[in-house]
Amino acid sequence: MALYSAAAAVLEGLERGDGGIKSLVYNSRFPHVRQLYALVSETLRYSPVLEKLLSGSALLQAEKKLPPQLAKVLVYDLLFGKGLKCGGRWKALARRHRARLEAELARLKVQQKVSRNEDLLAPAASPTASQLPRYVRVNTLKTCVEDVIDFFKRQGYSYQGKADSMEDLRAISKKKFTSDLHLPDLLVFPSQTDFHDNVLYTSGHIILQDKASCLPAFLLDPAAGSHVIDACAAPGNKTSHLAALLKNKGQIFAFDVDTKRLATMNTMLMRAGVTGFQLAQQDFLTVDPRDPKYARVTHILLDPSCSGSGMVTRQPGEEAAPSPERLQALAGFQRKVLSHALSFPALQRLVYSTCSLHREENEDVVHAVLQEQGSAFRLVNAFPSWPCRGLSTFPGAEGCLRASPTDTLTQGFFVAVLERCGEGAAALSSLPVAAKENLQHREGTGTTAAAPRKRKRKKQRVKE
Ligand code: SAM
Repeated sequence: MALYSAAAAVLEGLERGDGGIKSLVYNSRFPHVRQLYALVSETLRYSPVLEKLLSGSALLQAEKKLPPQLAKVLVYDLLFGKGLKCGGRWKALARRHRARLEAELARLKVQQKVSRNEDLLAPAASPTASQLPRYVRVNTLKTCVEDVIDFFKRQGYSYQGKADSMEDLRAISKKKFTSDLHLPDLLVFPSQTDFHDNVLYTSGHIILQDKASCLPAFLLDPAAGSHVIDACAAPGNKTSHLAALLKNKGQIFAFDVDTKRLATMNTMLMRAGVTGFQLAQQDFLTVDPRDPKYARVTHILLDPSCSGSGMVTRQPGEEAAPSPERLQALAGFQRKVLSHALSFPALQRLVYSTCSLHREENEDVVHAVLQEQGSAFRLVNAFPSWPCRGLSTFPGAEGCLRASPTDTLTQGFFVAVLERCGEGAAALSSLPVAAKENLQHREGTGTTAAAPRKRKRKKQRVKE
């Protein structure tokens, strides 16, 4: 049996419930099982898109003898696969409709405002929160990574060294742990590990923080001594991360409007040993960029309120999809607050982040504000080896980072790094970052963790 007919037969079998994909492929007697398996899996992945293309192009109406599953396989291979390398008469048939199918695909991309084929795909089914690894950020204000590793070894955990791939992270189980492959001060434990009662947590030596939420401070990368604003700061995990990167040298101005969250934040920052911060209950939009107090602010972390659609810890029944009106209101606020942040006169670098999956709160906000700024700021191609990039909704949007349970084993997240262009861009803050990004490009690993790091001076020893 030819490849396309075999793939169509497997799809029909799946539809009838004759078995799973593996067993149907193996029972098909097709000689190249891997090839068949790959074609069936990919056709299934693109199935919702293929259905739209078949209906929009009216292919099945024009070719009455063409079975629907075979049509799907042919259209998949023609537009997204290897381009119909085999197929005899079916190949000739599909090629007769090529122009119409390609036009339909282009229409679909315009309609969904994307340029890459894969952006047409809905996100894959995600692991639940309880399946994500437990990430532990070592608070380098109080201890160092080596001491924390020793501590957990003494508690019976087996250290696996630094992970080389996402597979290594997926494989973490039982009482094993590893150092993260992307972020230097992050340890990774099995998903169900609970450290809330652990002395390292209660004493502020470790912070229980999702890996994606560590990206903003890591990518802002302020040099020790910098003046930094955390514009929407509570409950303060990113603020404490900033303080660790600043080595408590410099100044953090942190704002939030929520009293309760600010109180929690204050306790957390104290516990983490953060000094040199000013916490204000204030709407960041009312903070005056011309106030001499902020004249030396070169870095801003902006993590504003969002729909939270990337969070996989939602309670059952909680509304995950915001209404179009709510999304519009959030995006309006996010644009406003981003524009405001960019108006601080000494600003060199800003990180914008959300835990939303919605383009409207992410790429669209960044694009709109960059356009409004003219050539004053540029989007940095941040962390080139990070596997999940911004949706290609505007030229260069791939410079943004996305994170998801499926691709990065984290909460859903979005990060964009903006830098001042031209004469205003002081060497002061951009140099170390540029050096870091060059290194990432050159080595193709993109991880600062891969760069040689000096062994940290041992801080206060961790006690069991
Ligand atoms: N960055 C925080 C962290 O890592 O812990 C999380 C920030 S949370 C996503 C957004 C915060 O923005 C909320 O605490 C909310 O109260 C605050 N917020 C909303 N509107 C604000 C405004 N106009 N000015 C300052 N903070 C605001």
